[in-house]
Amino acid sequence: PAAEAGLYTASDQVVLLSEQNVGSVLVNSSVAMVVEFYASWCGHCMMFSPTYKKLARDTKEWKPAVNIAAIDCAAEDNKQICRDYEVTGYPTIKFFHAYSKADSSGVTYRGFSRDVRELRHRIIDSLESHGEPWPPACPPLEPTSEAEINNFFETNTVQHLALIFEDKKSYVGREVILDLLQFENITVRRVLNTEKGLVAKLGVTEFPSCYLYYPDGNFARLRVNFEARSFYSYALQRLPGVMRSGKSPPVVMELLKNRTEEPWRPFNSSRVYMADLESALHYSLRVELADHAVIKGDALIALKNYISVLAKYFPGRPVVTNLLKSLNSWLQNQTADHISYKEIKETVDDTAQVLDAALPEGVRWVGCQGSQPHFRGYPCGVWTLFHVLTVQANNTGGSDPKEVLKAMRNYVHHFFGCRYCAEHFENMAKEGLDEVNTLISAVQWLWNRHNRVNNRIAGAVSEDPLFPKIQWPSPEMCPSCHTVKSNGEHGWNKEQVLPFLGSYFSSSRILTDYLE
Ligand code: FAD
Repeated sequence: PAAEAGLYTASDQVVLLSEQNVGSVLVNSSVAMVVEFYASWCGHCMMFSPTYKKLARDTKEWKPAVNIAAIDCAAEDNKQICRDYEVTGYPTIKFFHAYSKADSSGVTYRGFSRDVRELRHRIIDSLESHGEPWPPACPPLEPTSEAEINNFFETNTVQHLALIFEDKKSYVGREVILDLLQFENITVRRVLNTEKGLVAKLGVTEFPSCYLYYPDGNFARLRVNFEARSFYSYALQRLPGVMRSGKSPPVVMELLKNRTEEPWRPFNSSRVYMADLESALHYSLRVELADHAVIKGDALIALKNYISVLAKYFPGRPVVTNLLKSLNSWLQNQTADHISYKEIKETVDDTAQVLDAALPEGVRWVGCQGSQPHFRGYPCGVWTLFHVLTVQANNTGGSDPKEVLKAMRNYVHHFFGCRYCAEHFENMAKEGLDEVNTLISAVQWLWNRHNRVNNRIAGAVSEDPLFPKIQWPSPEMCPSCHTVKSNGEHGWNKEQVLPFLGSYFSSSRILTDYLE
């Protein structure tokens, strides 16, 4: 409760410190910690919190070595903790070494910058000067030498050795080393441009640049659109044989062989399928809603708005749009303060008998197929449906820019079966939905928030090993969507992303394979 009232929530990838967990998180832990001590009433802290959240997202892969935490010193229960850690002003950021003692009050970051990149570099500096005992999950960060590389494969069994050549001041190598720490079958090391022997041997002329080095002494340059951290990390995480620690390798046949129910439907993974959209509608209207015997109050308003948006923008086959339109006019005419699910179902069934209208029964996932029955499917269909609706509203000139997003938010809030998903989504929607003032910014908002969800749940148990979560669209799907900013950070080329979304989700490109 105290933590929830603060500036961060459980969905921010920031560990929320409290009396209950401070001992286990900061004392004698195998993970180094960066902690922000803030007061929820302090204006500077409010202004800083988006940066800190961004830092937590940005360094998410580093968690086993160094994690990000925060504590609200304004909460009564936390006051003594903040006093014990000698915090006198807000916000204060402190670095705690792994295996810190109970009497350690951490190393304060004086005059820290409000910039994610600089904070990240500061964390790397702290790790590099960490000393013993080193956080066990943190790979070596110091530059490697020719001698070490020559012996590397004698003592290591990994398949890939990636070398990042750079100058001493560059942080790219160390960032990529940390970005890959949760991945197996790859080791990343940095090589300084002053390591003349290796530089000459590989013929390196560009710094930074990344090379893959093989046991037989062969090497190859890693091909990327930009010589920058996120491009290296993305490419290395996807090398053959490289996989997230603890995840079984996605051997396609192995995974698919165990499927019992339906045959695999081959599909083009860069297209949208109507079968997924219709399946999502079926599941939403016939399964998810059915859990609500009586719908009233805000839930009823949410339902009316959802159906209204579907009737307006669902770019479906005529039979399906007929059904949605007729269901919508019936629903909007209902004046009672509650409706039973039974009435809705009867209306759907009756309409189908009198009009050329229907919603196919059952699900046939295509682009949303999972390698196992519990992967993908409905939630994938929900995202796809709402992306299509925001794009369709934009293409057909909807009147209210927030209409589709509000309908989605409230549908998810009241009905989406995954309750913790709904809670996280509501927290995200609270932030920034107000600023959506054009139809195009609605498309962009949903894309951006979906990527945040992807970032948060990458590597989670719910991730289908065959469809790893990425910042979407990938560089392969849309090379021009990706760019680097002048400071070397990854940037989205919004001028390219928007037309990409517009075309990817446009009604004219939706494939109709596998429809009944
Ligand atoms: P999905 O993420 O479902 O995406 C479906 C398709 O959309 C992808 O195949 C891709 O083609 C495309 N796509 C991917 N990213 C983008 C993007 N940024 N913009 C546009 N298109 C994109 N799961 C959890 O474990 N925890 C949660 O908190 C959680 N919250 C959720 C909240 C909502 C509102 C929804 C609808 C789902 C949530 N889920 C959550 C489920 C999770 O997001 C995925 O839907 C699920 O894991 C299936 O993933 P997927 O690989 O099929 O891809």
